[in-house]
Amino acid sequence: MTIVRDSFYIDGEWVKATSTDVLEVTTSSTGELYATVPAGTVEEANSAVEAASRAFSAWANTSPKERGELLMRISEKLAERSDEIALDIAHEVGMPLMLSKGIQAGLPTMTFADNAQRAMDFTWEEEVGNSTLVREPVGVVAAITPWNYPLHQIANKVAAALAAGCTVVVKPSEVAPINAFILADIVHEIGLPKGVFNLVTGLGPVVGEAIVAHPKTDMVSFTGSTRAGKRVMQIAAEMVKRVSLELGGKSANIILEDADLSRAVGDGVFKCYLNSGQTCSALTRMVVPRSRLSEIEDLAITAASGLTPGDPVSGSSLLGPLVSAVQQQRVRDYITKGVDEGARLIFGGTTPPEGLEKGYYVAPTIFSDVRNDMTIAQEEIFGPVLSIIPYDSEDEAIAIANDSNYGLAGGVWAGSDEKAFEVARKIRTGQVEINGGNFNVVAPFGGYKQSGIGRELGQYGFEEFLEVKAIQHN
Ligand code: NAD
Repeated sequence: MTIVRDSFYIDGEWVKATSTDVLEVTTSSTGELYATVPAGTVEEANSAVEAASRAFSAWANTSPKERGELLMRISEKLAERSDEIALDIAHEVGMPLMLSKGIQAGLPTMTFADNAQRAMDFTWEEEVGNSTLVREPVGVVAAITPWNYPLHQIANKVAAALAAGCTVVVKPSEVAPINAFILADIVHEIGLPKGVFNLVTGLGPVVGEAIVAHPKTDMVSFTGSTRAGKRVMQIAAEMVKRVSLELGGKSANIILEDADLSRAVGDGVFKCYLNSGQTCSALTRMVVPRSRLSEIEDLAITAASGLTPGDPVSGSSLLGPLVSAVQQQRVRDYITKGVDEGARLIFGGTTPPEGLEKGYYVAPTIFSDVRNDMTIAQEEIFGPVLSIIPYDSEDEAIAIANDSNYGLAGGVWAGSDEKAFEVARKIRTGQVEINGGNFNVVAPFGGYKQSGIGRELGQYGFEEFLEVKAIQHN
């Protein structure tokens, strides 16, 4: 049965869309219609910003404890509905249910709880010489998000902004918006004051640009492509609004000669393919010693062979389809380009995986002998495509890792953590994991270079939504 949402959440209530235009959401494993959401207009976007602006002063003046308690209740409700959220995102995005539960539903629950606690523990005032420094919320925040980790990306912005005392207007991705409606239902149920959280769905150039441009929007927190991020920044510049951008990546995973190759390659292949490669921090460039190339190719093929794609809801595979037909075509075009530019295709390719002709599946694919100036090594593919790039010296490996417009994440594998640490310090990215270090939900996440501006998660993510005022006294 198709899910139909026909209203926006504005000023504490569900408001019926004025236009009959809808955006269609498909089930990624079948291509069939899954849901429709309303295509918002500029007027509806404006009305959401107005509501957030009216609510700001009262919300900013609530006590951190009061805000913390409300955010904790959101976290509890998210936990209660985690099966439903995980299933929804398995349909919308295609991440297999067993991963979706922990990642897509689990992370937002943790992030709301973390920010609830953070608001209560934060030092809101401190003395510096003859000044009292007071931290205050920035104001009305436009939160614009993509589809790959849809509720996680919304939570990163909304939980921190609300904890800081800001009010928000969320414009979720048109490709995977239903999870945002579940959050709005929860916000309504727990009785967040009206206007503090608003949700308007619609197209980026219509609703997204309207909420960015609105004079009463004080800050834009955007996650998505570098292309759209640049546009958002241009519009925001007109009124010198604060902008925080989480953009693309092309992260390198350096494997040094003395690393445990079998662990390094297995882990690296999985981290490239997680969420079918639709992860901004995916380790898509495996930078390996040329002397060990054929050994590493064999290990990579073995690891990829263990990740046969399958149905995200009923299957047991850890690899699902891509999110949409557009994305599937884009990834296939990149695979063709890789072959055309002379990279050696050693696994997968453009033919759909056997028995999965319906839906948006792409076979896990590996190129070897990739040069870093090739398109597949420079551009974000956002699909299950690994590029193995050989190097002849450690310095060259580091140079390859840093030869990118992006600077989001990276990995280093070495015989010791000390050595891996030494190399990690030389990589110009916002995150680096060494010897398979795990994702940390309270570590700052964000990019150098064209991967963005600012950080999300943890203390740094929370402080993005604060101004600082210095009051001088005698
Ligand atoms: P996208 O840029 O197409 O869309 C992201 C959001 O921006 C959507 O809500 C969209 O409607 C909106 N948008 C598009 N054009 C806009 C405009 N002109 N003005 C205002 N809003 C606009 O990206 P996507 O395809 O949804 O997501 C994939 C991209 O997101 C990838 O490049 C990926 O690397 C990036 N991403 C980055 C991070 C990170 O934290 N760095 C995390 C996840 C995804």
